[in-house]
Amino acid sequence: MTTELPETMRAVRFHSETGKLSLETVPVPRPGPSEVVVKVAACGICHSDLSQFDGHIPARFPEITPGHEASGTVAAVGSDVRHWTVGDRVVIAAGRACGRCRSCVFGGNIDDCEALEVMAFAYDGAWAEYVVTPGVSLISVPDGVPMEQAAVLADAVSTPYGALETADLRVAESVGVWGLGGIGTHLVQLARIAGASPIIGLDPVAEVRERALSLGADFTLDPLAEDTPERIKEITGGRGLRVAFDCVGRASTVAQANGVLGARGRAVLVGISGETIELGREGTFVGRRHAVIGHLGYKMRHLSELVELVSRGRLDLSASVSAVLPLAEFEEGIRRLREHDGHPIRVLLKP
Ligand SMILES: [Zn+2]
Ligand SMILES: [Zn+2]
Repeated sequence: MTTELPETMRAVRFHSETGKLSLETVPVPRPGPSEVVVKVAACGICHSDLSQFDGHIPARFPEITPGHEASGTVAAVGSDVRHWTVGDRVVIAAGRACGRCRSCVFGGNIDDCEALEVMAFAYDGAWAEYVVTPGVSLISVPDGVPMEQAAVLADAVSTPYGALETADLRVAESVGVWGLGGIGTHLVQLARIAGASPIIGLDPVAEVRERALSLGADFTLDPLAEDTPERIKEITGGRGLRVAFDCVGRASTVAQANGVLGARGRAVLVGISGETIELGREGTFVGRRHAVIGHLGYKMRHLSELVELVSRGRLDLSASVSAVLPLAEFEEGIRRLREHDGHPIRVLLKP
């Protein structure tokens, strides 16, 4: 069913050749048979958006609408879509199956796709009034969950949530989290829910260390302080960490995280950079049975589990919505993220 969608809408467009962003009037997308058009309620500004603007993530198209952390209400559904009706509250997973890889061809679902297409990079995102997405990329949001918090779930909370699974984190394991921005702060909160103990947050900025303490960290440390490895050893009773989550991804943070792992410790790399990492003496790595694992993204199931946790009050994301700006003020939102103005967890745009 396609209801009365307007002909045109406002959308932010990124022009890759010039590197410029502008608010433009564009046609409202129509749903294909298996697609849904969502009226966007809120959409986050993420570091990976900045990476595309700066060319660190190569642009695939001359122009595209950014924004991959969005919530909204269903505005129109394609002819083959059975599960969704107009007005349903949803969070949008930022990916669609490629339809061509071995998994897709042999009937795998979106979580198994080997060449997942990411919203705002491979197709238009949600810094716009409307966005079109496959019907299978939506998760239902109960009335009690504010739309702004639902938007934060997509990526900013679900990526660290997925990282817990990548780490195979178990109750009472010691955890260190490097980088206490949006991803790292949520990792601290989620590790707390998962029963990790103790939880150590590491960041050079005193203000965000304070915030991490209030959201579930047992200890916080400045990674640049000379005695930090010694302090981690002390806190963990001489054993070293079981799990180190690096949400920064710099060679220096990976080296420090890897260096303070205890026996059978796992370092999970969540942050992304172009730097070359080193893991120290090979014999030590093998002898202590260390593991270093890369983590990216999340599964549909993760989003749905997070909606459950938020709707039951288990996960409090009220501190995660740092600001909500009108779509037209996207430049100001980008500035706050770039300049760490107020150390935002998430700045959201509201069309
Ligand atoms: Zn993101
Ligand atoms: Zn595929």
